[in-house]
Amino acid sequence: MHVCVLGAGIIGLSTAYELTQRGHRVTVIDRATPAAGASGGNGAQLSYSYVQPLADPGIWAQLPKLLFSPSSALKIRVQWNTRQWAWVWQFLRACNTSQSQTTTCELLALAAQSRRVFDDWRVRENIQGDYTASGKLVLFRSEAAFAAARQQMQLQKQLGGAAQLAVSASEASAIEPALAQQQNDFSGAIYTESECTADCKQVCEALVKILTARGTTFRLGHAFRQWVARGDRLSAVQLDHGEEVSADAFVLSTGHTTPELAHAAGVRLPIYPLKGYSMTVATDGTGLAPQVSITDSARKIVFARLGQRLRAAGMVELVGQDDSVQSRQIQILQQATQALFPDCSRYTDLQPWAGMRPATPTGLPIMGHQGGPRNLFINTGQGALGFTLAFGSAVQLADAMH
Ligand SMILES: Cc1cc2nc3c(=O)[nH]c(=O)nc-3n(C[C@H](O)[C@H](O)[C@H](O)COP(=O)(O)OP(=O)(O)OC[C@H]3O[C@@H](n4cnc5c(N)ncnc54)[C@H](O)[C@@H]3O)c2cc1C
Repeated sequence: MHVCVLGAGIIGLSTAYELTQRGHRVTVIDRATPAAGASGGNGAQLSYSYVQPLADPGIWAQLPKLLFSPSSALKIRVQWNTRQWAWVWQFLRACNTSQSQTTTCELLALAAQSRRVFDDWRVRENIQGDYTASGKLVLFRSEAAFAAARQQMQLQKQLGGAAQLAVSASEASAIEPALAQQQNDFSGAIYTESECTADCKQVCEALVKILTARGTTFRLGHAFRQWVARGDRLSAVQLDHGEEVSADAFVLSTGHTTPELAHAAGVRLPIYPLKGYSMTVATDGTGLAPQVSITDSARKIVFARLGQRLRAAGMVELVGQDDSVQSRQIQILQQATQALFPDCSRYTDLQPWAGMRPATPTGLPIMGHQGGPRNLFINTGQGALGFTLAFGSAVQLADAMH
């Protein structure tokens, strides 16, 4: 079968790889270059054990601070279209204990599958991408937040999640000596030794190289214009320069723009872009740079060591399709990084980045046929966990196509 995959982010490329492995001929289309979207500069966490959805009952207590504090990691610019409002309404409805536990359970299972699949691909294809099994420390600045995290840890344990340890601030700094100077700022931490990090962009580039060598065709620099339908199936996709690419089946994985392309085929998807930022610096300072992946839970910022670089990522903005890099947000990331790791970098060359997480209200991805033309399949909505879940999602999508 000839499959056309739209979108060359980590989801589209992983899907293309899995389909190729199963003997299909694949064409990948992207309006830009591989990893030009959310996969290009994300937080680099393979967060197999930290899958707690954003739609959590705890959001209600935090809402006033999240909405009105100037230092809040959340920002909403109200849009004059119903898409944003409908998404927020569905999101708030999903912020209850029962939905949050169901989502956590399903995401843990998908993340575990994703870990197995990526470990297999990495070894088989020798994918490097600054991958490390670095372990992860999630730091808490208040006793109350630390207590809630210990409860979530118990829930994840009951659901079969990986082994986690609640540790004191001094134990955390023994695990990651780069935290030593700041340990008095924290009440405690949750440590997960088995967590991993990697550079998502480099993993995308490695997949492109492997796919190209196996005969996958790439049509880059051309955006979707319209579908060509025959009966209850799609026969081709027309690109912005007029070219038509015919295929037996089509997979939509264009991240946050997927709803528009799906809508053109009569399929409605509850996806909204959640914008975030990252900043990457060289670890060229005089002090220690962390080896362990760190999350500052109060500031909602993650830090990942990628070879000789340190990346900080965070923030959630509902600002429609505006993907511009705001210097104020990069400044906040820089200040947070310098406060925690003052001497690990000279902080002279910040690499600023912004990206859009394709998010569903519950946090559960959308994988498989979702109505509309019989040969149209969707793989999107992995939200804040798209890198982590990409490999398991690719396998589930390929299974759904049979
Ligand atoms: C700040 C931030 C930090 C994050 N941190 C993490 C993390 O630590 N761990 C984790 O697991 N996940 C993280 N994520 C989430 C993760 O990055 C995303 O879920 C994931 O990259 C989504 O991949 P994708 O392939 O679906 O979308 P994208 O990477 O956005 O790819 C979509 C592709 O489709 C193409 N495209 C779009 N529209 C069209 C069109 N009309 N025609 C043709 N092509 C089109 C784009 O050019 C793009 O290349 C983070 C995201 C952000 C923003």
